[in-house]
Amino acid sequence: MAKRFKVNKDRCIGCGACVQSCDGATRLGQDMKAEIISQEKLGECGGAKVCPFGAIEEIREEKKEK
Ligand code: SF4
Repeated sequence: MAKRFKVNKDRCIGCGACVQSCDGATRLGQDMKAEIISQEKLGECGGAKVCPFGAIEEIREEKKEK
């Protein structure tokens, strides 16, 4: 299954590096924090590695085992 990512808004400083280095994957929202517009594209660019500040995090799907 494809990896999914989220922006940790507490860590994002709005530097725009992700927007620059991976065009079409993220954009800066009204709060000047990154938001993901294409999970697929972001994954192709390296996902969490795209952000030098560690604000892009991989979502780990937890398996429910009982
Ligand atoms: S997610 Fe990272 S690279 Fe993108 S704007 Fe925020 S701090 Fe910068």
